[in-house]
Amino acid sequence: MNKKVIVIGAGFAGLSSAACLAKDGYDVTILEKNESVGGRARQFKAAGFTFDMGPSWYWMPDVFENFYNKFGYTTSDLYDLQRLDPAYKVHFGENDHVDIPANFDELVDLFESIEQGSGQNLKKFLDQAEYKYQVGINDLVYKPSKSLTEFFDWRIVSGVFKMDLFKSISSEIRKLFKNPKLIELLEFPVLFLGAKPQNTPALYSLMNYADLKLGTWYPKGGMHKIVEAMEKIAREQGVKIETGVEIDRFEYNNGTITSAISGSDRYDADAFVGAGDYHHIEQKLVDKKYRNYSEDYWDKRTMAPSSLLFYIGVDKKLKNLNHHNLFFDEDFTVHAQEIYDDPKWPSKPLFYVCAPSITDETVAPKGKENLFILIPTAPDLEDTEEMRERYYKIVMDRLEKLTKQKIDESVVYKKSYAHKDFKNDYHAFKGNAYGLANTLKQTAILKPSMHSKKLKNLLFTGQLTVPGPGVPPSLISGQVVAKEVAKSLKQ
Ligand SMILES: Cc1cc2nc3c(=O)[nH]c(=O)nc-3n(C[C@H](O)[C@H](O)[C@H](O)COP(=O)(O)OP(=O)(O)OC[C@H]3O[C@@H](n4cnc5c(N)ncnc54)[C@H](O)[C@@H]3O)c2cc1C
Repeated sequence: MNKKVIVIGAGFAGLSSAACLAKDGYDVTILEKNESVGGRARQFKAAGFTFDMGPSWYWMPDVFENFYNKFGYTTSDLYDLQRLDPAYKVHFGENDHVDIPANFDELVDLFESIEQGSGQNLKKFLDQAEYKYQVGINDLVYKPSKSLTEFFDWRIVSGVFKMDLFKSISSEIRKLFKNPKLIELLEFPVLFLGAKPQNTPALYSLMNYADLKLGTWYPKGGMHKIVEAMEKIAREQGVKIETGVEIDRFEYNNGTITSAISGSDRYDADAFVGAGDYHHIEQKLVDKKYRNYSEDYWDKRTMAPSSLLFYIGVDKKLKNLNHHNLFFDEDFTVHAQEIYDDPKWPSKPLFYVCAPSITDETVAPKGKENLFILIPTAPDLEDTEEMRERYYKIVMDRLEKLTKQKIDESVVYKKSYAHKDFKNDYHAFKGNAYGLANTLKQTAILKPSMHSKKLKNLLFTGQLTVPGPGVPPSLISGQVVAKEVAKSLKQ
């Protein structure tokens, strides 16, 4: 009889861990509270439009490719992946925007046209970032971070200073670049990591390498193609997936979990993987005496931001927009302060618009545009319909002004999504969107542990544990936890 593993949650981390465990011969079942899989990357269709609900940036294609290779696939067997060129557009103000080209020589020229000498500095900066990416993404992030000794490897120890763990990315960027636009461009990828550039180790310039060298990609049909590919792989490996099953608690025997309970249903297994939000699984499902952390510990964590999102269908084609558009026409520092230092609804928010129908005719009816608007906000804010509407108006006015066209009058579909929805749909702690921020004090062994310290057969995966938030890290987190589960079942 194969040993049984229950995975709670069918986001990227849950699907990834389940597929790896099933490949290793375990009898794996995923239990997912929502009616469809994908977690924060679910998709919905309305009024002829197809909306990706969460992630829209496809970075680090090598991480996806490595995952698929394990199961005998290459990315092109699963979906049609295109590199976007330009990668994205940044609006700095009226009549003031730049397109980020995919070609690196053109990018160097663009930097040079904004600040003399910055082209050479960009090359220098990205050479260092490449080293961090090679060591970081190919090595460090695949460690379970149980103890510091995992990192006592010659490449890491000898390169520790080159990894720039103890400098902030903000200061490193400012040493090489003076122009505020270039600084914003290079600091923007850090927003994916959920912390202010001043509090993010310069190690994470590896994100700049991912952005500017490896490129921005898009799977035709939308980001949900990744979910579909992973679900297909998991099922082919024999994973059973039950949706609409919410786990409420566990039963225990002698320092182990025996069953996960959903209402009157019981799911017995030899090991359990918590692939839903870590805080929810351990604070709400695990008995107090078996928890790793206290509510106070969680309260002191720096959470990554939440977001106010709008999914919008427009009854005409729009101009002056790319697939990805960043609106940096207000002060980045003030908005960051209102997310992290003095949490409140932002006074003048920066925002992001994804218009996938610019490159993909399958996500909107002919002649119409599909828009996804994201405003990063502090977690744990009071989220009301009035507030959402107020921000819709602010952002729509700016979008119309900066892209020089009427949009609102042609909106035929509109749905908002924010803190309350993150809590209801995913049990997100404080309504976070992207999990736990990657600050120095929340990196590697300082993140909430993958292992339960008190229950031998409970492990955690996903964006609140190692390696951190984002689609590629969640995919990696699932692969790492699968190995840890296998080790614990062999003991
Ligand atoms: C708006 C938004 C934009 C983003 N943009 C990007 C981007 O462009 N690029 C990028 O790389 N990343 C992006 N991210 C981050 C990325 O989407 C996440 O880091 C990743 O999807 C998290 O995956 P996960 O498996 O850890 O968690 P989740 O996706 O949250 O999956 C956890 C699953 O567990 C289920 N669950 C929870 N509790 C229970 C329970 N008790 N019983 C059963 N099931 C349960 C939940 O329903 C959920 O399906 C974005 C995220 C958001 C929200």
